Amino acid sequence: MTRLRPAVLVHYHEIGLKRGNRPLFLRHLARNLTRAASDLGPVSLRQLSGRILLDLDANPAPERVRDRALRVCGVASAALAYRVPSTLDAMKAVVGRLIEGRKFASFRITARRAFKTYPMTSMELNRELGAFVLERVPARVDLHDAELEIHVEVLPAETFVYTDPSAGPGGLPVGASGTVAALLSGGIDSPVAAWRMMKRGCRVLFVHFHSVPYLPATSQAKARALAARLTEWQYDGHLLLVPFGEIQREVVLTVPPPARVVVYRRLMVRIAEALGRERGALALATGESLGQVASQTLENIARIDEAAGLPILRPLIGMDKLEITAEARRLGTFEISIEPDQDCCTLFVPMHPATRMSESEVRAAEARLDLPRLVAQGVAGATLETFEFPARAHAVA
Ligand code: ATP
Ligand code: MG
Repeated sequence: MTRLRPAVLVHYHEIGLKRGNRPLFLRHLARNLTRAASDLGPVSLRQLSGRILLDLDANPAPERVRDRALRVCGVASAALAYRVPSTLDAMKAVVGRLIEGRKFASFRITARRAFKTYPMTSMELNRELGAFVLERVPARVDLHDAELEIHVEVLPAETFVYTDPSAGPGGLPVGASGTVAALLSGGIDSPVAAWRMMKRGCRVLFVHFHSVPYLPATSQAKARALAARLTEWQYDGHLLLVPFGEIQREVVLTVPPPARVVVYRRLMVRIAEALGRERGALALATGESLGQVASQTLENIARIDEAAGLPILRPLIGMDKLEITAEARRLGTFEISIEPDQDCCTLFVPMHPATRMSESEVRAAEARLDLPRLVAQGVAGATLETFEFPARAHAVA
């Protein structure tokens, strides 16, 4: 029996891709697919029309390559496919292998020809291969709700046969949209927000504010674990840890309790912006969702925006907590986020923060702060940590 030649067939959505953007999109997608599977053995990548083929002839772990591809932003779906010459006999042989030992009550063949000069039409292929399956298993054909769908894609040089394509994240490949600095707390929301930006093609720089030594270092450990997890979607990650406790202590000295939350947030935004600009960020991102907590009213959001020179993107603004939590579980950030810790915002925070601060109120609250010095202090105190996924293979002498 001939050996099955495995490959991963990656589909992306072209809808929404302007013509001029496509080469850039494909370049980033190809680079990220290669990087995502770089520790799993040889993968050679080929662009076909409307899809990308990962040739795994010499790869020992095709399923794992498929699983990695399913987590690459920009991938609409991916399937483990088998390559055969474009002859009916070869197609039948691989279809036979794919249904071997599989139980299914109904199936359909979905044949597609990428070039129309192939001697058989898609309908003829569907019929021939369908009859071949019917001779071998007690199943019926169901075109609308088949338990098993066998895809046959005929290209001039070869044909790909696959079942069970799985959905990827969709969106755009990381790197295609530029860099954003995401404010990453240890909470549930901001890691999801950071991921949403990745899904729109952004490379995310993580910025976390901590209150060591006023609070234990658990928030830093959580930020690190979250950055490591999120790096699985962008391959290289940078986390900036900013000491914020001293800055908060100064705020407490002059700012009345109800105004503190907004003042803290405005300081975070200014510091994150300065750090982000140094690294090419074109926007900031936060995990705010409208009305979720006192600081997330339209008025307070406006006050926070006024402190920033870069746009502040809030990808979760219209999401419910339940939706955000479900996404955090899917991403595997939820378990990290719910680890108990004291966020810096629990330090020196009033019982009843102002929910609707006006511009003049916030200016008055900040009047006695030396803002440039506090921002410079945060920027100077920041430390950088780097993450990578998968770990780069280091050359062995
Ligand atoms: P999260 O679940 O992301 O912590 P939250 O619902 O607790 O959000 P807030 O405490 O109002 O909401 O924080 C709003 C946003 O401000 C967060 O989503 C995050 O982007 C940013 N933020 C808050 N605290 C920190 C921090 N310690 N370091 C970095 N960013 C922070
Ligand atoms: Mg929080």
